[in-house]
Amino acid sequence: MEIKYNDKLGKLPPYLFIEIDRKKKEAIERGADIISLGVGDPDMPTPEHIIKAGQDALAKPANHQYPFGSGMLSFRKAVAGWYKSRFNVDLNPENEVCALIGSKEGIGHIHLALINPGDVVLIPEPGYPVYNTGTIFTDGEPYFMPLLEKNGFLPDLDAIPSDILKRAKLIFVNYPNNPTAAVAPKEFYVKLVAFAKKNNIIVAHDSAYSEVYYDENEKPVSFLEIEGAKDVGVEFHSLSKTYNMTGWRLGWVCGNKEVVQAVAKVKDNYDSGVFQAVQEAGITALTSSQDCVEKIRKIYKERRDALCDGLNQIGWNVTKPKATFYVWAKIPKGYTSSQIVGKLLDECAIVCTPGNGLGKSGEGYVRFALTVDVPRIKEALNRISKIKW
Ligand SMILES: *Cc1c(COP(=O)(O)O)cnc(C)c1O
Repeated sequence: MEIKYNDKLGKLPPYLFIEIDRKKKEAIERGADIISLGVGDPDMPTPEHIIKAGQDALAKPANHQYPFGSGMLSFRKAVAGWYKSRFNVDLNPENEVCALIGSKEGIGHIHLALINPGDVVLIPEPGYPVYNTGTIFTDGEPYFMPLLEKNGFLPDLDAIPSDILKRAKLIFVNYPNNPTAAVAPKEFYVKLVAFAKKNNIIVAHDSAYSEVYYDENEKPVSFLEIEGAKDVGVEFHSLSKTYNMTGWRLGWVCGNKEVVQAVAKVKDNYDSGVFQAVQEAGITALTSSQDCVEKIRKIYKERRDALCDGLNQIGWNVTKPKATFYVWAKIPKGYTSSQIVGKLLDECAIVCTPGNGLGKSGEGYVRFALTVDVPRIKEALNRISKIKW
């Protein structure tokens, strides 16, 4: 049988990592000792007390049945409590919070609730690919906003043409940012809320890295802290990066109740929510002492310093990120991002991500994920220092 696929599958951007994957496999076959700084997936385990809560919840028969689409009220209350203590933002757990099967799930599905064919979706580039995936699947039209160093890696909202603004329905924003590691100042969100109001565009703020910061005095803010934010948008959040829980699949969307309820409606019809045992583990994560998060931050900070100081010592020119576990490194002159990634893989058995793989404005950079320990980072630096340029 010849299968004719949905045309939209063919519209998904080409998978730029195929060539890297091929080279990586070859290197492994050669017996190379690969150091993987590519994928943004924490290498450390979920904290013990969260695992224990999940184990206990697993044994409860009530959790073996279908969950409720938008999540257990107890989970949504835990989210609201965490928002209050972390950001001083009030959320009504009844209708302003919806649990997600990881925030990627909601980020990919929100389009189904909001986008009609031809609606424009404003998307940062380089950026998380899922903002565009959902756009393609709903026949929306992506408009890419470049994130450039000269603008502090913030989108230039004033540069968006007015005919695009007229048709735009949704804007994605993500700070602390993957891949540039930039943090947005509060003034940016103030501007964003005014922009959204003026142009009648819904804001979707992806805040997956809000807890991976390095300076206690410069904690990332929530978009929802801004006056009027709840009128114009929602914030996506995740337990994945904060508590090393990527495999558990747990996140949430919160903020504007109409948007939250629209996402919940899609979910009621698509999936049946998050496994309740996982939600119970999430409640423990959000309501217990946050010392484990502080410990995780400390470890990333050591790794960040080791990698950035090391690269700068051998002639690179990298800035230490204030948040996220990524280093967005400007590459040595005379090479493209792909060439550097190829060179690091061939000559050093180091895997990293080419900046242009995440959007064309990422050319000239590579992204290193701080997902190996300090001795491995030192080994990576040792290998890089031996490259002949
Ligand atoms: C990791 C990540 C997410 C969240 O992933 P989930 O595991 O699905 O919650 C969301 N946005 C960005 C930019 C990420 O890097």
